[in-house]
Amino acid sequence: MHSSVPWTTEQSAELYSLERWGNDYFGYDKDGFVTAKTLNTEVPLMDIVQGIAERDMSMPVLLRIENILDAQLFRLNEAFARAIKVCGYQNKYRGVFPIKVNQQAQVVEEIAAFGARYQHGFEVGSKAEMIAVLSTLEEPGSLIVCNGYKDAEFVELGLHANKIGFNCFFVLETPSELPIIIERSQALGIRPRIGVRVKMTTQVSGHWNTTSGDRGVFGLSTTQLIDVVDQLKQHEMLDCLELLHCHLGSQIPNIREIRSGVVEACRFYADLTKEGAALSYIDLGGGLAVDYTGARSTDGQSRNYTLEEYCEDIVDSIKTTMDRYDIAHPTIVTESGRATVAYASMLLFNILDVNTFEPTNLPEPTENEHEQLRHMRDILTYLRPQRVQECFNDAHFHRQEIRELFKRGQIDLRTRSIAENLFLDILHKIADIVDQMPRVPSDMEGLRESLADIYYGNFSLFQSLPDIWAIEQLFPVMPIHRLDEEPTRQAVLADITCDCDGKIDRFIDPWTGAKNTLPLHELKRGEDYYLGVFLVGAYQETLGDLHNLFGDTHVVSVRLNSDGSYDFVKEIQGDTIADVLSYVEYQPKEMLERYRKTAERAVREGRITVRERQQMMKAFNASMQGYTYYEEEHY
Ligand SMILES: *Cc1c(COP(=O)(O)O)cnc(C)c1O
Repeated sequence: MHSSVPWTTEQSAELYSLERWGNDYFGYDKDGFVTAKTLNTEVPLMDIVQGIAERDMSMPVLLRIENILDAQLFRLNEAFARAIKVCGYQNKYRGVFPIKVNQQAQVVEEIAAFGARYQHGFEVGSKAEMIAVLSTLEEPGSLIVCNGYKDAEFVELGLHANKIGFNCFFVLETPSELPIIIERSQALGIRPRIGVRVKMTTQVSGHWNTTSGDRGVFGLSTTQLIDVVDQLKQHEMLDCLELLHCHLGSQIPNIREIRSGVVEACRFYADLTKEGAALSYIDLGGGLAVDYTGARSTDGQSRNYTLEEYCEDIVDSIKTTMDRYDIAHPTIVTESGRATVAYASMLLFNILDVNTFEPTNLPEPTENEHEQLRHMRDILTYLRPQRVQECFNDAHFHRQEIRELFKRGQIDLRTRSIAENLFLDILHKIADIVDQMPRVPSDMEGLRESLADIYYGNFSLFQSLPDIWAIEQLFPVMPIHRLDEEPTRQAVLADITCDCDGKIDRFIDPWTGAKNTLPLHELKRGEDYYLGVFLVGAYQETLGDLHNLFGDTHVVSVRLNSDGSYDFVKEIQGDTIADVLSYVEYQPKEMLERYRKTAERAVREGRITVRERQQMMKAFNASMQGYTYYEEEHY
């Protein structure tokens, strides 16, 4: 509905819940642009898009904003420091970043650099991750927590890490790892620092809840725990057992479940201490959630707590329990992955095309019009709220009749096209009526969605946003400009893979959790329309695959300056077509050679000229070296 009151940028911000999920990192300016914000600066994302274009990169681009990662590490460490002060807690906090959440070298380097002032360390689950960390981390005293199954080589890497000044812990996932650790540490003469991962009974809600509970794949049962303690005792190494580890799952929406998990972990800690273990670290794993929907609720894609509450609840629960058992306060460790990196990355892409489901070219009725068309036109004469169900049924009935007649060859393509258009016209008018009705008839519940536009975006869901497809994850999506104009269309998004699963048709809604269409602007001729998918820094980058051979996107890292300018810190060119083909074992050189032969044969057989051959080879070569996504013409 268009009203005469001008639309404002504030209305758009509210419509897209920008400030509910933006976590103070995203805002808007008076010109209707979405901005990236940090403490002392604010830069429109469109400025950065322009900078990207000037550097000859086309969309889609994964944009990382360094300051946001920096600020998130700051907020996490400072929030724990404050909670520790407020609660009178007698020890410190040490964070580690679980590298599996984003293993990209750039991100790991930034975390090591920005985290150094807090001795922020890493959690690793494989030798490859361990090696990535050992070659990046510099700050002595930082923690390295090793989870996952560890062979002798892995153990040696960890022992060396301790020797050169890191605090590296081997967290036992099974008792069978222990003999290897004991053997290697004795052979190298380096004392191991050992942790145990306990299986928790606290159940948490949300998508990622299977890590906890009796059947959780990770962690030691109580029987195995006793076994480990006894083995260590036998080797007079119980003093090496310094860390208790648990991980309840990722994206825990409810603070009560976190508190309950912490209390359970503390019970293990207290009794292992009684058994004689020299515990001094309690590692609570990940789970700190991101409020993707902005709902501030226990909905699985949200959270009902702030970072401050999370920290205070943890510190306070540990203090209370430890004081009760008269045990010294341990160093608190958490392994926040998602919350650390999600905010810093966003996917930016342009819209290539729109498909609308609006009636077009409705001709006036003619004398000898087919009677089914007349029936359809009649529906509009009795359409009103009381008869809306009847009209809906009739429209479907007559359309079906026409489709049948077409199949039998009794009407032609043009007649059918008029019928389909009449049908859409009727459905739009029914939808307008239904929108005003207090209760929507069940038949017509998905009517608006079924009439929504399809906006085709220049991106691959499978490559850049795999969790939307895999686990129905929701991310905030919105245009990054034109917020001062009213978005008058309702749309779903399709990617360019032409796979029917390559679509986004669920969008965040802070009040209902999710909605099926996204309000968007009408495209303007000759002007690109840019959308951003936000909070994608966690888990999306390395999970992505080469569906339809769409490769890695360009990645651009920027640093915002306090004067409102920004620096391009790093640029990584996305995959070329030759790159993605070689991932699936093609040999680009050989392919060129074969194509050359085919073209040469065509010359020989007189089908093309030598000059045409030259042009074709040039085009082939340029494509091989080009981006896998849709590129604007450069002629
Ligand atoms: C995946 C994982 C994490 C990260 O959890 P987030 O919820 O992303 O913070 C932490 N610790 C372990 C052991 C994990 O497997």
